[in-house]
This record gives sequence, structure tokens and C-alpha cells, in this order.
Amino acid sequence: MSAPLVKTGDTVSARILDGKAVAAEIEAEIADQAVEFIQNNGVQPCLAAVLVGDDPASQVYIRNKRRACERANIESRLYRLPADVNEEDLLKQLAKLNKADDVHGILVQLPLPAHIDAARMLRAVNPLKDVDAFHPENVGRIVQGQPRFLPCTPHGIQQLLVRAEISIAGSHVVVVGRSDIVGKPLANMLVQRGMDATVTVCHSRTRDLPALTRLADILIVAIGRPRFVTAEMVRPGATVIDVGINRTEEGLVGDVDFAAVSEVAGAITPVPGGVGPLTVVMLLYNTLLAAQQAV
Ligand code: NAP
Repeated sequence: MSAPLVKTGDTVSARILDGKAVAAEIEAEIADQAVEFIQNNGVQPCLAAVLVGDDPASQVYIRNKRRACERANIESRLYRLPADVNEEDLLKQLAKLNKADDVHGILVQLPLPAHIDAARMLRAVNPLKDVDAFHPENVGRIVQGQPRFLPCTPHGIQQLLVRAEISIAGSHVVVVGRSDIVGKPLANMLVQRGMDATVTVCHSRTRDLPALTRLADILIVAIGRPRFVTAEMVRPGATVIDVGINRTEEGLVGDVDFAAVSEVAGAITPVPGGVGPLTVVMLLYNTLLAAQQAV
């Protein structure tokens, strides 16, 4: 990836890490590999998405994932269930997809309605088709350094850092947020041999958060608080990865105050156009991988 010093107005000095461009590069690689897979095996990699209810944000995410599948020569199927579906019917749907030989990846779009035990549903997905890597077996494999699939957002962040040639080994990475989807798996991945980061994980009970974030060579923020990270929380020259997606009256904003932090950071991801596009493309990557592992 090129390393432009992008200027917005006169003050921005950080290198902008263009997630959209990196995602397009990876998507093109996957599209080529999917064609090769189809030629060699006579089957198309297939992702089955299960969407419960009509949450508007979920519908947008599903639409983006389906469009990305099309571009990458991956078949996508959508299974829509009503918001009041009961757990047993949802489990039956998952069992059918688990058995279907022509379905390689299964995605249960989160969040699920409150009356459904999401953890129980995620446990019901065949681990070999668990392209979100949320099944306990796949989480355990990541912790042990033997991943089958890497979860999409953490994997996207890792790819962004690697392809932008930002050195991870030996770096102090501070992850703010300890969710099962982003913070925890990301920390587990970066601390493994081969990645070799020194990782600090922070959360809402962390004492003196700015003192810790200022120690970061790479600061990764996934908390869901608009513009929470200010310039004073960032060491000059640090790389800042903003995972947050917050819908505000001013539109989508991240967890980092981009205008202020880009004046001190060495490199920074924008929102939108940073981590988001990479999350989608790593789902395609896992679907292709699941198909390759199945033949
Ligand atoms: P989550 O499950 O809501 O967890 C938020 C985490 O942030 C929790 O660990 C919480 O700490 C911590 N936190 C909240 N307020 C904090 C504070 N003031 N100081 C320090 N830590 C604080 O979040 P998530 O699912 O990981 O999502 C985080 C953000 O990333 C959201 O904006 C989401 O939309 C976005 N996201 C983006 C992508 C993408 O593709 N770009 C993918 C997934 C998520 P406790 O554990 O102590 O409560």
C-alpha cells in the first residue's frame, strides 16, 4: 500500500490508513482464488446468512456482505426469519445449513432479538462452517495459537497493519475494549508467536486510561463511544486504529476524535473507510477457506 501524507485542510499530518483500498486489494485476491477453486472443484464457495427480524443496521450489513460475495465470485444465500421466531425454529434452520454440503460458511447476523439466547445459537453453528469464528471451539483454537478461522474484524485490522508495513512484532499494542467480537480475540491474536506484540487490554474499569493509551505504539479502540479518544491520549507518532462505528446526527463517526488525533498520530484509520470494509472482506476470506477445507 502507498503511504501518502494525506492533508485535509492544513493540519492533518498523520498517514491515513485507507481500509477501503486494502479491502479492495484483498477482495480481488479472493475473487481470483474463488474462480480457481470453482475450476478445480466444480462447486462455488457459498455463504449462508441468517437474518432474524428487520433491524435496519443489520439489513445494511447483510446487503453489503451479499454484494461483496457477488463481486468475489462467492454464492450468498439469505435466510430471513421473523423477529418473533422461537429458539427451536432458529436451531432447526441452523441444523439444516450445518448439514447442507453446498453451504460452506454460516453467518448468524447479530444482534439477535432479546428473547433469543445468542450464545446458544452461536454454539449451534458447525465449527467447520463458523466463518465469524465465534464458536467456543474456534475461540479456543485462537487462544491456543491454532486457528481454524480468524474473526473478521480482528483479522481485518491485522491485515491492514501488515499490508501498511506497520511493525507489530515487539510493539506495545493497547486495545481499548474487551468485547468477544473485537477486543478479546484481537488481543489473543496479536500476542501469539509470529505476531509477537506486547498487548495491554483496557475496558471501562481501567484506572487512568490515558496513562496507558499514551504508552501505545499501536492504539486500537473498539468501545462504541463517539470521538472518545482525544489527542492527549495518544503518543506522538503512534498508529491509531479506530474500530468504532457510531451513528450520530453528524453521520458516522468513530471512537477517535479524528481531526485532533490525526495531528499527533503517525498513522490513523478514518471512519468510515477504515476497519469496516476490511471486516466484510475477511468474511469472504473465511468462506473461501471453509470451502477449501471442506473438499
Ligand atoms: P461492545 O461489545 O459494546 O464492548 C465495548 C467495550 O468497550 C467493552 O469492553 C467496554 O468495557 C469498553 N468501554 C466502554 N466504554 C469505555 C470507556 N469509557 N473506557 C474504556 N472502555 C470502555 O463493543 P464492540 O462490539 O466491540 O464494538 C465496539 C465498537 O466497534 C462499536 O462502535 C461497534 O459498532 C464497532 N464495531 C465495528 C466493526 C467494524 O467492522 N468496523 C466491527 C465490530 C464492532 P466493559 O467490558 O468494562 O463494559
